[in-house]
Amino acid sequence: MIKPDAVENGHIGAILEKITAAGFKIVAMKYTQLSRRDAQEFYAIHKERPFFGELVEFMTRGPIVAAILEKDNAVDDFRALIGATNPAEAAEGTIRKLYATSIGENAVHGSDSDENAAIEGGFHFSGREVF
Ligand code: ATP
Ligand code: MG
Repeated sequence: MIKPDAVENGHIGAILEKITAAGFKIVAMKYTQLSRRDAQEFYAIHKERPFFGELVEFMTRGPIVAAILEKDNAVDDFRALIGATNPAEAAEGTIRKLYATSIGENAVHGSDSDENAAIEGGFHFSGREVF
């Protein structure tokens, strides 16, 4: 996902350019907005964390871009491309270093395993939206 902060700040195009330049193929994509229930479900793994309420507020405050990306070693390579959760710790040239503003508002989401990538793809897209 391209998160609401990066959409608000006009970075959709630049972020998609970096993603495709890094060799990812976009196999599904949509511009949408998460409901509170959507965000609570998507980030359910973090529901006991102190920042959960803030995270749900943030993720629902405006539109996002959701996409399914394909590449060899996609999960690890995408996490390398986006950089550390906290942009202050993200490597130079990473998407979060360039476009995130804080640990909470960090521009992009990446799946953390192939298994979760499949679950998250199914959360956003039906079979006929995947190419
Ligand atoms: P994402 O799952 O969004 O790709 P991530 O895997 O790098 O991010 P997680 O630990 O899964 O990081 O945290 C999920 C999201 O919760 C973060 O991207 C960020 O938006 C928010 N978050 C994480 N830690 C904090 C924190 N300490 N304070 C505020 N928000 C946080
Ligand atoms: Mg995560």
